[in-house]
Amino acid sequence: MDKDRRAQSKQRLRKVLDDRPRRIQMLLERGLIKNASEIPADAIPIDPELSTKATLCIPAVCYQDIEFVCSDCGRPDFWSAGSQQHYFEISKASPYQQPKRCYDCRQKKLAKRLQARADSGYTPS
Ligand SMILES: [Zn+2]
Repeated sequence: MDKDRRAQSKQRLRKVLDDRPRRIQMLLERGLIKNASEIPADAIPIDPELSTKATLCIPAVCYQDIEFVCSDCGRPDFWSAGSQQHYFEISKASPYQQPKRCYDCRQKKLAKRLQARADSGYTPS
């Protein structure tokens, strides 16, 4: 199961990379960028049709790792370009919610929630 998910994620990233020229072309045609070199090599260009809301959140035409400080433990972490792409284009999540906690704190919070659920007698079907 975990292996499958990992493979899926790799496949997804490859698909996005293959899609790079088309995405850059769209950005050029819409006048969002003037030159393909405006997209750094390690960034994922946004798909202007899929990422309609991304620009409300990220001030750019591409996804790049965004660094932030964890609101719980104060440690620096980053929001990866690949997960932003998934967040905006596949999950279609709210552009007003950016991750605030580091990976460790997110896991801790999740574990707490699951524990609370278990304590209340909830059993997932
Ligand atoms: Zn943290």
